[in-house]
Amino acid sequence: MRPLFHPRLVHGPFGDPGLYVAWMHKARAILFDLPDLSPLPSGDLIKISHVFVSHTHMDHFVGLDSLVRLSLGRDKKLKIYGPAPILDQTAWRLRSYTWNLVGGYKEGLVLEVTQLRGNLLESTLLDCKEEFRDKGLREVAVFDGTLWEEPGVRVKTVLLDHKVPSMAFSLEEPLHVEVLKGKLEEHGLRPGGWLRTLREKVMEGASPETLLEVNPRERGPLPLAWLKENLIRCSKGQKIGYVVDVAPTQENLEKVAGLVKGADLLFIEAPFPESEGHRAINRAHLTTRKAGEMAAMAKVGKVIPFHFSPKYGPDPSPLVKEVKQGFKTLMENPSR
Ligand SMILES: [Zn+2]
Ligand SMILES: [Zn+2]
Repeated sequence: MRPLFHPRLVHGPFGDPGLYVAWMHKARAILFDLPDLSPLPSGDLIKISHVFVSHTHMDHFVGLDSLVRLSLGRDKKLKIYGPAPILDQTAWRLRSYTWNLVGGYKEGLVLEVTQLRGNLLESTLLDCKEEFRDKGLREVAVFDGTLWEEPGVRVKTVLLDHKVPSMAFSLEEPLHVEVLKGKLEEHGLRPGGWLRTLREKVMEGASPETLLEVNPRERGPLPLAWLKENLIRCSKGQKIGYVVDVAPTQENLEKVAGLVKGADLLFIEAPFPESEGHRAINRAHLTTRKAGEMAAMAKVGKVIPFHFSPKYGPDPSPLVKEVKQGFKTLMENPSR
């Protein structure tokens, strides 16, 4: 299976937390958290269409300015999601700059900021042409666990306790749809933009009678049912978990385990070694062992610990070892 999402951490394990996810077939990318973004080339930053911010402690939010700066003057909507009051915080940050020279742009960046407050999602638009002024308009929707969904992708979240609300995320591909290149040749068809439409129609569950243009054009249009039967393989989609800055409480543990259940990959914070458990509780963070146990409870395929406290650097291997031990012990003895 050729994976759809290609995640990579923005920094090393002791650096700011952030996960960049390149999205195959799309010139778009998804970003979890807004750390210092200097390690990412501008070509990658420009592709970001959706940003999911766990909370607004500085190491998770300092990158807002550089992302906005790079996107200015482009006809682009950048969607930002996070816990309340991220909407006010984004608007205030942008108000601290002078915008007299960008206000006249014909087209320009629009930020759509959505915050989760209790069981409500509140959104607003901050438009470069209007100097990003918050006009106080709020679109309100009831939160049902899903923050964002479109054909082929879904991001879910839970609100956790970190002495402030903090969000963990799961990025899911509900169904993995693959075009079999060999079959394409066998049927005398050629690749092209039509394959994207085909994949989307399959993901949407469009009617089997739907007719689609193909390449070469004279061979079509062909019904979706035939195309699906002859060219497509469907399998379980990818799932990636992103968990940072969470107090080591039972309630958090259970919420996270439910959210990232069965994920192929879990990126999880593990700032403190097991011997520093009291510090972890004080700072409302996980220890290495707790991170491993969370991963085991959720039965994830692979756990990638990060956001280690720099105090325990520069060698990450003892911390990684403790996470893996917690994961393995609980996986082998789930009744523990
Ligand atoms: Zn942090
Ligand atoms: Zn924090």
